[in-house]
Amino acid sequence: MIRLFFQMTNCCWMICFLVLSCFPRGYHASAGDSDPSYRACVEQCVKNGCVGERCFSQCKPSSDGSSLDGPLYTQEPLYLRWKQWDCQSDCHYHCMFDREKERAELGLEPLKYHGKWPFQRICGIQEPASVAFSALNLAMHFHGCLSFFTLLYYKLPLKPDKRPFYDYAGLWYIYGLLAVIAWFCSAVFHSRDVDLTEKLDYTFAVALLGYSLILAIIRSFSLRGGPARVMVAAPLIAFTITHIFFLNLYRMDYGWNMKVCVIMGIAQLLTWSIWAGVTRHPSRWKLWTVVVGGGLAMLLEIFDFPPYQGLVDAHALWHASTVPLTYIWWSFIKDDAEYRTSSLSRKGTSSFTKGSRRGFPIYLF
Ligand SMILES: [Zn+2]
Repeated sequence: MIRLFFQMTNCCWMICFLVLSCFPRGYHASAGDSDPSYRACVEQCVKNGCVGERCFSQCKPSSDGSSLDGPLYTQEPLYLRWKQWDCQSDCHYHCMFDREKERAELGLEPLKYHGKWPFQRICGIQEPASVAFSALNLAMHFHGCLSFFTLLYYKLPLKPDKRPFYDYAGLWYIYGLLAVIAWFCSAVFHSRDVDLTEKLDYTFAVALLGYSLILAIIRSFSLRGGPARVMVAAPLIAFTITHIFFLNLYRMDYGWNMKVCVIMGIAQLLTWSIWAGVTRHPSRWKLWTVVVGGGLAMLLEIFDFPPYQGLVDAHALWHASTVPLTYIWWSFIKDDAEYRTSSLSRKGTSSFTKGSRRGFPIYLF
């Protein structure tokens, strides 16, 4: 009965992923962009530098009479320049809110502009809630990684050569480092989406996903030997790097990237789910919580909705939901380290490396 429930849950998440694949995140064409009033407003604003009563200094001609067509953001203070809040961006922003105000008075639903909902900027930050939750995710990974290190080196017994018994420690450190970098890039991207920040965000998100898949296979198949690990990792690393080069140097293809991410996500989710279903690991319920919780959280990406008060949208809530899941995930990793260490230190490494299946069973599909 329980097994049947797990199989059904797996099917549900697969459907979620497949549905998700129908919603590629395109950033360039949205319903709001083609709105005639919005387009007229932007055109007018770029010419005269004003939206209604509000005029923007960066749109005005410089004192030496240079043209309005130049890279006007170069005339801005440095702290604004790095964010590239130029004349056109400001025109987009203010025209979008004016148009949305008119639409709200007519009782119409909000529209997306240039692939994004209308967000209120705070201190020049484009999506403040997503930035805050990305930072929280970063903090959770940093805390998890640090407490994992403390547990291994200061609380659990060490081998005579002062190395931990847990044979996946190095892999989890790399995971922690990649996750911290990926969430940092996510926070920067949600602060301001320009070409560079978008590429960095996509690059590290794909890298983290690819690496997590390698880790899922290595851990669930209990691959301890170097050659076995290399056989799994090499093709996946080669594929992930090729995909990253494709996105950065050839074409930022959102549809193709979504397909790649969906396939890697399904593979990873299935690997963990099947392992959680067959293992007798004492903390497998944490694994299930993360798999099921992660799948539920993904529904927020599917049922996208506009930001409440121009601040919190479905994507921001999705980032919020991964904060507690990250805490549980690192808690599982630490339990796993404890479980394997107690098993290995009790038996002695020699008996374990001979292939004993009693301490921690090796399950193959
Ligand atoms: Zn995001």
